[in-house]
Amino acid sequence: MERTLTVVKGGDTSDEHGRVCGAARALMQTVLDNEALAGQADFFWGHVMDCEHCAKTYAKEKAFLEVFRTRMPKKSCPKNIVEGIRSKIRIAKLKE
Ligand SMILES: [Zn+2]
Repeated sequence: MERTLTVVKGGDTSDEHGRVCGAARALMQTVLDNEALAGQADFFWGHVMDCEHCAKTYAKEKAFLEVFRTRMPKKSCPKNIVEGIRSKIRIAKLKE
């Protein structure tokens, strides 16, 4: 499905820009996770180049993610903790 999105340059307060901003921000997480499709990524980067607000939001999100990723130990969760969570989920589901 092809969608035509027009980026209004210099029209930061226009509804159209707000709509494009919303669409770009909705895609942000997907782009950060490197899961965006080629068309989505093109649209996102095209918008971020033009929109200072979205560029700043993206930079902040990315910086946050990097801190988060580098601080998180790479090893996986201890098995007993995983099992504990799993059994709690199972009990919660049984109670539903
Ligand atoms: Zn924007």
